[in-house]
Amino acid sequence: MVTELKIRIISLETAGNIRKNQSIMENLPSGDLTDRILKIALKGTPLIKIGNGHPRVMLTAGIHGNELPPQLSALRLAENLKSHYINGTIFIIPFTIPQATMNGSRRFKGFDMNRKASSEGYITNNIIKTIKSLKINSLADFHATKPHSNPGVESVFCSKKPVIQSFKIAEHINEISSSQVICHEKAGSLYSGALEDECNLSGVPAVTCEVVSHNNKLDSGSLERSYLQMIAYLNYFDIV
Ligand SMILES: [Zn+2]
Repeated sequence: MVTELKIRIISLETAGNIRKNQSIMENLPSGDLTDRILKIALKGTPLIKIGNGHPRVMLTAGIHGNELPPQLSALRLAENLKSHYINGTIFIIPFTIPQATMNGSRRFKGFDMNRKASSEGYITNNIIKTIKSLKINSLADFHATKPHSNPGVESVFCSKKPVIQSFKIAEHINEISSSQVICHEKAGSLYSGALEDECNLSGVPAVTCEVVSHNNKLDSGSLERSYLQMIAYLNYFDIV
């Protein structure tokens, strides 16, 4: 049985040449899908769809372009899953903002895109709209945090309200990866515009996963830790 794989572009203004990022190039997985994705990123944000069943879940990486482990991990995940049987549909955005990844930048157009998910016209708001239009059931957003920053530890952010499933997903990821659960009672209570929070507020259960790595670097083991978080997330839904 051949697994269905499709790629579309969900934003054009984010386009960038990821091959200009030396640290990414040194750690790029080999595979034809990787080549395709980097080519498409020259035109905008690529969204990979693997499989064609339920549930339908999304994994995002690279909202902060200077956080490398989750972007490389998401690419590796797509390469590995494309030839597997998928008990559902997996949407993967390995490079949310190719231009920010190219530049090794946390910000895009002067803003932190993880504070703009509720603002019309920004890429993270596009992602929310895509989740709605494609009837996606859940989202996990993957990041890296540098040592001694906030949070500075491998962790899973979640909330209990309005969607308790956010907390349950985080607990499951913790069971498998030992990533520390950081739970807020209500989504978006500290600040607004985080992709995870806006998803939860719109009724789509979401979590944010962090691994520890320096900015624009792939600290030893960080790609593997991010990969484990991704597998743990998919495992919650019995997709793989
Ligand atoms: Zn981040």
